[in-house]
Amino acid sequence: MGLVCSHCHKNMSVAKIEEKRGEGLASQIRCYHCQAWLGKNVRIAQVKMLSFYLLVGLLILGYVVEQFEVMSYMLAAMMGMALIISHFMDQVHTIEAPEQEDVSDQLKKYR
Ligand SMILES: [Zn+2]
Repeated sequence: MGLVCSHCHKNMSVAKIEEKRGEGLASQIRCYHCQAWLGKNVRIAQVKMLSFYLLVGLLILGYVVEQFEVMSYMLAAMMGMALIISHFMDQVHTIEAPEQEDVSDQLKKYR
């Protein structure tokens, strides 16, 4: 399993990541290319989990209780949408960027 650093856009191997901090959904990893701390948006991860459990629960409810069938399947479809949207938003992003090198001198050369 690999992922792409949101700061330097290089591929990382999860096995090579040595520095980690935080627990569970709020855990962060450190890119070994650029030293930036990367993490997930905790709220989006929570929405994703919640919509998944609601989706499963509503499907079971619609299956078991006949009079709720249409309503629970409609709600389940909405939860499915929320799950897909939160899944696409649930990407690693840069929490703490490494200190920037001063490149202004180099930029002047090209002017
Ligand atoms: Zn990086």
